[in-house]
Amino acid sequence: MKTHARVAVIGGGVVGCSVLYHLTKAGWQDVVLIERDQLTSGSTWHAAGGFHTLNGDPNVAKLQGYTIGLYDELEEISGQSCGLHRSGGLLLADTKERMEWLKMAHARARYLGLETELLTPTEARELLPLIEERFFVGAMLDAADGNLDPYGTTHAYAKSARLGGAEIYLQTKVTAIERRGDRLWNVLTDQGTLIAEHVVNAGGLWAREIGRMVGIELPVLAMEHMYLVTDDMPEVIAYNKTHGRELPHAIDFKAETYMRQERSGLVLGTYERACVPWQPRQTPWDFGSELLPPDLDRIMPSLEVAYRHVPALEKVGVRRIINGPFTFSPDGNPLVGPVQGLPGFWCACAVMAGFSQGGGVGLALSQWIVNGDPGFDVWAMDVARFGEWATRSYTNAKVRENYSRRFSIRFPNEELPAARPQQTTPVYDLMLAQGAVMGDSWGLETPLWFAASGEEPRDVVSFHRSNDFPRVKAECLAVRNGVGVTEISNFAKYEIAGPGAEAFLALLMTNRMPREGRLVLTPMLNHNGKLIGDFTIAQAAPERYLVWGSSQAQIHHMRWFEAHQPDDGSVRIGRYDMSLVGLSIAGPRSREVLQRLTDEDVSGAALRFMDHRALDIANVPALLNRLTYTGDLGYEIWVAPEYQRRLYTEIMAAGRDLGIANFGMRALLSLRLEKNFPTWYRELRPIYGPFEAGLERFVDLGRGAFIGCEAARREQASGGEWRRVSMVIDAADADVLGDEPIWHQDRVIGWVTSGGFGHFVELSLAQGYIPAALAREAGTGGFEVEILGERRPARIILKPPFDPEGARMRL
Ligand SMILES: Cc1cc2nc3c(=O)[nH]c(=O)nc-3n(C[C@H](O)[C@H](O)[C@H](O)COP(=O)(O)OP(=O)(O)OC[C@H]3O[C@@H](n4cnc5c(N)ncnc54)[C@H](O)[C@@H]3O)c2cc1C
Repeated sequence: MKTHARVAVIGGGVVGCSVLYHLTKAGWQDVVLIERDQLTSGSTWHAAGGFHTLNGDPNVAKLQGYTIGLYDELEEISGQSCGLHRSGGLLLADTKERMEWLKMAHARARYLGLETELLTPTEARELLPLIEERFFVGAMLDAADGNLDPYGTTHAYAKSARLGGAEIYLQTKVTAIERRGDRLWNVLTDQGTLIAEHVVNAGGLWAREIGRMVGIELPVLAMEHMYLVTDDMPEVIAYNKTHGRELPHAIDFKAETYMRQERSGLVLGTYERACVPWQPRQTPWDFGSELLPPDLDRIMPSLEVAYRHVPALEKVGVRRIINGPFTFSPDGNPLVGPVQGLPGFWCACAVMAGFSQGGGVGLALSQWIVNGDPGFDVWAMDVARFGEWATRSYTNAKVRENYSRRFSIRFPNEELPAARPQQTTPVYDLMLAQGAVMGDSWGLETPLWFAASGEEPRDVVSFHRSNDFPRVKAECLAVRNGVGVTEISNFAKYEIAGPGAEAFLALLMTNRMPREGRLVLTPMLNHNGKLIGDFTIAQAAPERYLVWGSSQAQIHHMRWFEAHQPDDGSVRIGRYDMSLVGLSIAGPRSREVLQRLTDEDVSGAALRFMDHRALDIANVPALLNRLTYTGDLGYEIWVAPEYQRRLYTEIMAAGRDLGIANFGMRALLSLRLEKNFPTWYRELRPIYGPFEAGLERFVDLGRGAFIGCEAARREQASGGEWRRVSMVIDAADADVLGDEPIWHQDRVIGWVTSGGFGHFVELSLAQGYIPAALAREAGTGGFEVEILGERRPARIILKPPFDPEGARMRL
């Protein structure tokens, strides 16, 4: 074994081998893989080998498309067969809602460049005669689906990596990982120690244990998973003979099963409700090539439905039952990327669909290691998307929920109940008592909307406008016409302080930093000039800045801040998390409420738009920002949690005669749409530049250099490739949700990022991206947006429909 390497990848499953191959592909040869046993001896060897492009996140779907396209390349380089069967796959819908979901998936596939087709039950049966047509209302055909040989594919990655210069050490167990003083890592194995610049945890079933070697508890858990392999079936033999091809794959959502041809029989796998975690605390090191005992009773409810839907199954014997473990994160997507606080330690774990995702994970991680950036949008699988609240038992509850719902519809207004409430603020029960319907926002209970008295506070889940619609309308009108209060504790909050703080922020942010007592809004770019953050920054005191951003990105942003923190101690970086909580009051009468709670002068002349102050409000020491996301006159008030309850009750008392109303996140998001304000994670993501996103007024190219400034300059000169636009949609009873295609002259030319109903302006609104040239040339009419399979006329609006001049915010 070598004593030094640039990268040590731990784990020789499909994921580790893919990372190794992609590192060599990116030009790094001094890279090694360390495997405890043989290649594939974790979860990889007993996988069913199916692959597909479907994923709830479009960017992960794109990476799945990349993975599936990669196999021909691997076979060519390595000479090793992956055992590919590109049979296509059917997704079988048994209800109207599932068909609506498939229509949305089909629409999204259009802009992702994936090939799908919607079918009637009869058409589906023509492709897969084994199904009973009467149980289904329709289907979607995904041409890219298929299956492969897990062993051959893993070896094809490994062989290609070796040809590229990598070394692989088998029968070598990593026993400890130590951080050295020189920013390198000691990787201790039972065959000696290797010093590496970068360590990749691709430990699959042992990813948790490898994480513990560096002092972290990764949110990952293995679940038992079963599939049956049947004896040969005359129906399959006959189909192959008459059609000259294999049967397509099928997912039967009702039965919660997947099915594909294996030799002349079938493989039938289940994601059963009564699912069982495997080794919830500690994976035994001696586990490897054995299977788990099958438990047919557990999957019987699924099998009964599957057998009814495919009657030929009832007559055939079962040749083998495989029960094996594989890992999941709480939301089912992989955990990829650098770990905050541990520079040079990377994750490529919780990959639950190694043969759909392994290639994309390897590509993203290798680019991240080699270039400092994954090269595309990996938010949905970034290891940084979970916070400290994702503990082992939280993970256990969420993974079980996710596994058992793998084939269930997640409605856009559906909040999943497992492991909740995890974090609550002091006003939680006060808001519940007033009818709040809560949602989970980065592990924190946050009010979404408030039911009327006597009404059950519960969402009726739907793709259409639902029972919250009239209530959210009432909340929006209360704000626009008077005053409302909402909780904003779910924002991320940081403090950046010290003599180097201003220069540090000036390097990271695109906008000029504020004077003392003032606020600025500013994006943050990566080195390629793409958006990786969007913040409100206050200068609270000389050398002390307060920074607010998106809660979901907290760990991600800390990782970026720390990576750029000077070594000389001149910049201190802190994260407030829940030690600073917030309430916001907004609406034309919000100043009256505020003035009743303080003896400071808060008139428009004394406290201007974008001012920041520290003052007492309702006896409580508070920080005040004069801005809100509603686009109305309003304030954000930040306090320590022990004061929040008092602050809230005093605000409600002071506003009572003015008709103050609670409003929730859904109203807030509707109000911001009326102002064309973008939102982080939807309109603002690392695939867009600041000019494309319409943030030019927050990018100061005239001052000294900041990260991404050259790329931003180029983007400004070229006009960028895309342009964010706001649209009014001629909608019926459903508004856009995000990820719908935008059509122009019968072609899909862009996609929706978010939208909803603007209750005050009474318009169905959407935001999305279209080609920049088209945005300049096409005028505002002639667009369509596909909602639930129907193309609805759309009109681009150049100015916000509410208060286009921004006078209300500045009142
Ligand atoms: C029954 C079943 C059916 C499945 N069906 C499919 C399917 O149809 N399609 C699909 O895409 N996926 C399927 N999967 C999931 C798929 O198997 C996983 O996504 C994939 O195997 C994950 O690969 P990995 O490399 O992350 O992990 P693993 O395969 O677990 O690899 C981790 C490797 O790390 C090594 N290792 C761990 N710790 C150390 C250490 N300390 N030192 C050295 N080496 C170490 C292990 O020995 C192991 O080889 C299925 C899984 C099961 C169990």
